[in-house]
Amino acid sequence: MSITSFHPPRRTLMGPGPSDVYSRVTEALSRPTIGHLDPMFVGMMDEVKQLLQYAFRTQNALTLPVSAPGSAGMETCFANLVEPGEKVIVCINGVFGIRMKENVERCGGETVIVQGEWGRAVDPAAVEETLKAHPDAVILAFVHAETSTGARSDAEKLCALARQHNCLTIVDAVTSLGGSELEVDAWGIDAIYSGTQKCLSCVPGLSPVSFNQRAVDKIQNRKTKVQSWFLDLNLVMGYWGKGAKRAYHHTAPVNALYALHEALVILQEEGIENSWKRHQLHHNALVAGLEAMGMSMVVPADERLAQLNLVTVPEGVDEAAVRAELLEAYNLEIGAGLGDFAGKVWRIGLMGCAATKTNALFCLGALEAVLGKSGGCKAAMEIYQK
Ligand SMILES: *Cc1c(COP(=O)(O)O)cnc(C)c1O
Repeated sequence: MSITSFHPPRRTLMGPGPSDVYSRVTEALSRPTIGHLDPMFVGMMDEVKQLLQYAFRTQNALTLPVSAPGSAGMETCFANLVEPGEKVIVCINGVFGIRMKENVERCGGETVIVQGEWGRAVDPAAVEETLKAHPDAVILAFVHAETSTGARSDAEKLCALARQHNCLTIVDAVTSLGGSELEVDAWGIDAIYSGTQKCLSCVPGLSPVSFNQRAVDKIQNRKTKVQSWFLDLNLVMGYWGKGAKRAYHHTAPVNALYALHEALVILQEEGIENSWKRHQLHHNALVAGLEAMGMSMVVPADERLAQLNLVTVPEGVDEAAVRAELLEAYNLEIGAGLGDFAGKVWRIGLMGCAATKTNALFCLGALEAVLGKSGGCKAAMEIYQK
């Protein structure tokens, strides 16, 4: 055998994730590995927790990164909060809502579905009706930023409704954290999970989660054991929650946590509100450019995510061939449509450090060339010059 080192090309990642990673983050990854119970490491973990509390806008003591990707954060929330036989209301307006339903069922829970339209926010009126019709439901679960459709739901309103009907909330913030306004404490979110590889521009593979006291009380008063040993927060708390007296649970992904620490320091340096504003600015420019080229956005303007843009593929264009050309000739990745949208839309990400003027103009310029259209960059520049 003569397999040699792997050297990936340098792409511009403007798909649904992973997003481009800050060079400061990849540099942090390469720092020396130390023991995960080393006092120096434990000190850094405390800082990661504080930085995550900053990003989530919460004081929740149980705030930590699960050692696995966003899907494991999802599973952590459901496995810990849902007991067999419990009724959970799940809002489905895209792929990730469907996965929430699957999680509830695998935990032995019973689902009640609020079926929404793809490309639209979750409808609060439909949620309220369902909460009224099912007073025995104990949890309301929904996706804040549906990456499969580009729609942003009103998490504040949905959490207020859940509270009025004595339901806890589980919120998917994998794509929203760092890119969209998100207030865990002010909005009364009980359990939330995110990911590192979207708007935090960190490497994939970790899942920040946060639980408030109501959620912790439910977890600590379970009648049955959490079916997953690895994700059981009653055990994980012994490692993340106990100050200097940490017990071995699993070996933390030490270097990946250096990377997350660095990504969160960068977020704190920028200021989270500035990060939200930056995503919005480049979104406005990108949309102006796409529309000037005659393409239309899928999601109504007031329900759009800034960081993930669904645009309809022009009539007669082979969408896969365009993506392949962008990747090969421009080293630019954009995303394909999922589920109901497969073959009909592109998903253009502006996530984390990829949300820049350079990227917005690069993507528009490449699309102009590949599609043989014009006016995209010019329209975007008009937004920047405002
Ligand atoms: C990406 C994503 C996930 C899953 O995260 P992974 O890191 O891929 O496991 C879950 N929910 C939403 C909304 C996402 O965009």
